[in-house]
Amino acid sequence: MTTTYITTTIPYVNARPHLGFALELVQADVLARYRRSIGEQVRFQAGTDENSLKNVLAAQAAGVGVQEFVDAGAAAFTGLAEPLSLSVDDLIGTSSDPRHRAGVERLWRACAARGDLYRRHYEGLYCTGCEQFYAPAELREGRCPDHGTVPEPVAEENWFFRLSRYAGQLRALIGDGTIRIEPAVRRNEALALIDGGLRDFSVSRSTGRARGWGIPVPGDPGQVVYVWWDALGSYLTALDYAKDGANLSRWWNGADRRIHLLGKGVLRFHAIYWPAILLSAGQALPTDIAVHGYLTQDGRKISKSGGATIDPYALAATHGTDAVRWWLLREVPPGADADYTERRLAARANQELANGFGNLVNRVISLIHRHLGGRVPPTAPSAPGAAALQDAVANAPALIAAALEGFDFRRATDAVWRVADEANRYASRARPWDLAKADDNTELAAALSALLRACQAIGELLAPFLPDAAARITRQCTPQTNGLLPEPAPLLPRIPLPAPHPHTTRTP
Ligand SMILES: [Zn+2]
Repeated sequence: MTTTYITTTIPYVNARPHLGFALELVQADVLARYRRSIGEQVRFQAGTDENSLKNVLAAQAAGVGVQEFVDAGAAAFTGLAEPLSLSVDDLIGTSSDPRHRAGVERLWRACAARGDLYRRHYEGLYCTGCEQFYAPAELREGRCPDHGTVPEPVAEENWFFRLSRYAGQLRALIGDGTIRIEPAVRRNEALALIDGGLRDFSVSRSTGRARGWGIPVPGDPGQVVYVWWDALGSYLTALDYAKDGANLSRWWNGADRRIHLLGKGVLRFHAIYWPAILLSAGQALPTDIAVHGYLTQDGRKISKSGGATIDPYALAATHGTDAVRWWLLREVPPGADADYTERRLAARANQELANGFGNLVNRVISLIHRHLGGRVPPTAPSAPGAAALQDAVANAPALIAAALEGFDFRRATDAVWRVADEANRYASRARPWDLAKADDNTELAAALSALLRACQAIGELLAPFLPDAAARITRQCTPQTNGLLPEPAPLLPRIPLPAPHPHTTRTP
């Protein structure tokens, strides 16, 4: 049986979650639900990155203790499972979970035993927002390219990881697809980073600079482990790496697929640093690195620090979980950025969820109740004119499988949408409401049978994408113990369309 481990990145908890992170969670959830539905063993792993200096600074600014601050911040992220309907199997919090610190220590010792860790004096420019050093050439007019802030000069003795030793191996593994990076533009970016030369990187901070927060370096209590080493390590520590437990062999080294989902801004850490650490520690490598773009609102990056921010809790409360998931899956191109507006989310939900899936199921169930007493019509494989609809139903599973293999959620949802589209087309050709006027209802029953089967297929096909709506559709299309279908009820309500954004109505 195929075994698949799927991870999201673990976010810093210094600010509330935003819609951009919800994108990553929903994508991971779809993959997890889909792979479970085809019989795979799946573990969907998420967590929170709590050992960052950012958290310490934010706690100080808020005037609360760091652990208290971090726990509250982590809860805001782990709480997303409900409003987004996530099927997360496990969450790891890096400051409090006992599996984590012991695992990070083991990972450190494994690399040290390979001779890949050494101490040296270092001077560099550090962006706390990114938690990384920048070379002067990487800055934009002396500022962090991501945060626009001036990085802090740091001079201290640190531990370094011998990344340079792994450049050739990494190039070969990414080049031949052993580590598959999607989309290709990100794979090429990773190869270019390697070709630009990989220098050893600092993997510890002085305990003073870290304000005493973080995981002490084993055998060197004056230093704490670099927060990215610690965060990347969570993919293993959550599997009881510290104890070399059964989860590690089942979900990591023995798994068929190890899939990391991440945003384009953290490619270097996942495609270069992490595989090198794994090579050093003698652990299996990720099989897939699936990179998504950023969401923008009116062209500005949505992020926790600066820029626009959109609260996924508020969005789900206002428009419903199904509408939020559907927008993220339908309008974000694979690996690329997308611009969010509330109006687009509402319009998409109304057009496809309410008017599309919802209306279709409601009409079919209503006709079955009105003309066939609510009884499921006998299967009629030869309903005239239903071939295109039956093809759309038959082809959908393969189309969805291929699309999700390429992390293309738009193309995957499109295969489901095509079934609804064909069903509506078939209904307007077959005109069941006219067939109902005939003395003999054979043709009517055949048409409604074809339509009901399409609705049942939609319920099944939608399940990984919109688990809540899919469950309602399936319930509506399944006979109850009395043999009758449930009375038709609205499944996917229309949502109010917000007023057009001023940009779209006014001319300058
Ligand atoms: Zn930065």
